[in-house]
Amino acid sequence: MTQKKSTILIIEDEKPIRKVLSFALESADYKVVECEGGREGMRLAMSVKPELVVLDLGLPDMDGKEVITGLREWTKMPIIICSVRSNDAEVIAALGLGADDYITKPFNPDVLLARVHANLRKAAMQEAGEPELVNGDIRMDLVRHEVYVRGEKTAFTPKEYELLRYFLLNRGKMLTHKQILQDVWGNAHTESMQYLRVYVSQLREKIGSDEGAAGTIVTEPSIGYRMESASFS
Ligand code: CA
Repeated sequence: MTQKKSTILIIEDEKPIRKVLSFALESADYKVVECEGGREGMRLAMSVKPELVVLDLGLPDMDGKEVITGLREWTKMPIIICSVRSNDAEVIAALGLGADDYITKPFNPDVLLARVHANLRKAAMQEAGEPELVNGDIRMDLVRHEVYVRGEKTAFTPKEYELLRYFLLNRGKMLTHKQILQDVWGNAHTESMQYLRVYVSQLREKIGSDEGAAGTIVTEPSIGYRMESASFS
């Protein structure tokens, strides 16, 4: 079982630059998906759902700014623009369209990593209001993608992690099967009840299920599930 790493999508047509980017990101333990065109990039963003996008503005098939506009129709994932220094106006336009940050080419890998980390952290905080989610004995570090159960670091598969995060974000709330499947697995899986049952039992095994304790996932017969919440959270 592997810990879920943040996935970074690189959309950049110049191969040497793509190489430097992916090498720097992979050595910092990010998972990298790359492509050279805007259209493919937008498709990949939909299918892979990366945590962050590094986007070149000058692409062969379309303007990088159009990619930003396309992505912003459905996602708030951080977008870091990769631009040549002489193109300040382009950068400003890109930020105006919803890009989060930029680096200039040629770039220093340390600067790139600092920007990536800062933007992931910001995104995690915006989503959760804080960089970690805590409920009873469970603590999830959204920046490092680590989960601690009773103080012990515990490995979750990527899907288990996503499901646990969903429960933590919605702790105390009654969640219907359909709602959970739709939000965690996507529209195509709203009837896959068996999936959900299996994953919930895996989560229970890892986080324990003391009756009434915060973090326990309670079955609400024929409706769905609810994660017990600590009264103060
Ligand atoms: Ca280019």
